[in-house]
Order: sequence, then structure tokens, then C-alpha cells
Amino acid sequence: MKRIVILGTVVALGIVATMSRPIAQGNVAEIEQVKDNLYVITGGGGNTGAFVTDGGVVVVDTKNPEWGAAILDKIKTVTDKKVTMIINTHTHGDHVGSNIDFELPIEFVAHANTKTNMERMPAFQSPSGRQYLPSRTYTDKLSLLGGDDRIDLYYFGQAHTSGDTIVVFPALGVAHTGDMFAWKGVPYIDVNNGGSGVSYPKTLLAAADGIPGVDTVIPGHSPVMTWADFREFGEFNRDFLTAVERGKAEGKTAAQAAANLNLPAKYANYAMSRGTLTSAEDNATKIYAELDQ
Ligand SMILES: [Zn+2]
Repeated sequence: MKRIVILGTVVALGIVATMSRPIAQGNVAEIEQVKDNLYVITGGGGNTGAFVTDGGVVVVDTKNPEWGAAILDKIKTVTDKKVTMIINTHTHGDHVGSNIDFELPIEFVAHANTKTNMERMPAFQSPSGRQYLPSRTYTDKLSLLGGDDRIDLYYFGQAHTSGDTIVVFPALGVAHTGDMFAWKGVPYIDVNNGGSGVSYPKTLLAAADGIPGVDTVIPGHSPVMTWADFREFGEFNRDFLTAVERGKAEGKTAAQAAANLNLPAKYANYAMSRGTLTSAEDNATKIYAELDQ
């Protein structure tokens, strides 16, 4: 009897604790060491990387609007250095939204296509907003800083958008992939910002083959994973595309093709939809439209 009462109390406390805490991973920023001087800050949108270099902190992605203070608070728990550089992996508001919260001067770096995409966003149209657009861009590869602080930016083609950067920290063997690899499941293909379901697998596998020395990955919206996970995600997208192309050749609708993918069992843990953002059918529909162009 007593045990039942205690158990009931524990359960009740657990419910209170759950209810009083903001929704996990969304409404609070948390900082976690990935390796040595590299951290990931979760919550508030895409994963933010914080790389503490000799000359200052390099931030990768700035989450949704109004998360700058939370990012800075977390950085202050690991270093007194100022943020000197911000790299934006791509144009989306949950990755560039708090650029304008940071104290200038800061060097903003992104792929040239991402700068073009960002220039269309309302936040970067005003004279003050434009100060937070990328001031340094590249097209294929760019190395920043040097020695153990070196950062390599890679672009392999269209995928999630037309300007997805993979940010590599060679001294640590870590890559921040942005939303090119956001989660294990069907990706969001933003065709309005140049994304491509047909190019997506090719781009991922070119990156998996072309970037040396990485073992650890910070995905766009998931906990830290391995480079093998990244390669597998490329293979998943390749097999998804092949199945959709086969369905189209057989005269199926996009919905029918998406319902009959028959993917290998190793992808059983891959989510085939992501809330209202995307689904296998959405992606098949985008691929059909692209194949018809
Ligand atoms: Zn995105």
C-alpha cells in the first residue's frame, strides 16, 4: 500500500516536472561539447555550432529570430571571447534568424547562392538589416583561419536549397552539415530556394566521398551523429530517388510511387514524414515535377 502511494507520488511529480519544463529541444537553449573547443547549442531552431578559436568565437547558424541572447549566454559559459565570425549554412529563418542580434563588427560568411537567397528575406532588406548579410562568399570551397583553427567550407551542389554549405573543422574531424542532413528521414526540399530532389543524393554522396578526415557530424536538427550516418543518409536519398523514378516509369502517380518505395530494411528507422513540413509523397511530387521539366 505504502509502495503504491510512493509510486503514485513519484508519477505525479514526474508529470508536474514534465509540464513545468518547456518542450524539450525547442524552447530552451542547451550547450554541449562536441570535441575540445567545439560546442553545439541546441534549441530555438537549427543546431548552432560554436568554435572557440585564438581570435574569437566562430558561430555556425543563428537559429530563429530573437535567439541571439540565448546563444551568447551559452557561449559565455565556456569562454569570454567575442563572436568574430558567423557562418550561415543556408538561407532559412531558423538558421539565419538571429544574425541581427550580434554585435558588429562580425564577418558573415556563406555560399554565394545563400547570400542571393538571404537578400530576398524581409529581415535583410533594410539598410541596417543588410549589414548582417554575408560579407564573404564562395562558390566551391573556402578555407578560413589557419592552423588548428582552420575551417573548410564545401559546396557540392543543390540539395535542401541552392546554397548548402558543409562546415568542416579539420583539426577535430567534425562537420556541421546544416539542413542538407537535418535528420534521419525524408528531407525538406525547398524548391523555392533552389533545392532539388533529383540532385540531392548526388550532392550528399559527392560530399561523403569528397570530404576527408571527418568522423563526427552536427546535423541541422538532430543530436550529434557519425560520418557513417551522413553517408547512409546519402544512400537513403539515392535509393528513394531510384524508387520514385521506377514508379514514374511504371506509370504510377507520385502518391502511388511514394506508397510503394520498397526501400531496404536498413532504413526502417528513417521517418517518412516530418509533421506538416514534408513527407515521402511531398518529395516524390517534387521529384516528378523536376523530372518533367
Ligand atoms: Zn533549412
